Amino acid sequence: MNQAQLGNPQYMEAMAMHELIHEVYGVDDEAIQVALGLTKDAKNTDNITMWLLNNCMSGPGNK
Ligand SMILES: [Zn+2]
Repeated sequence: MNQAQLGNPQYMEAMAMHELIHEVYGVDDEAIQVALGLTKDAKNTDNITMWLLNNCMSGPGNK
């Protein structure tokens, strides 16, 4: 959870998508972090949400 991003509707969307990945694919946070090339850290999974925010919700990778 990234306190600075609370209230940002796109961050909320990214968080929902993060949870959806667990639901739909049945993968844990570390598997997602490896798949996205992120730092593997089960205690800090905000990097997944921020990746989604910057690559899916907005930013140059928006698709
Ligand atoms: Zn997660």
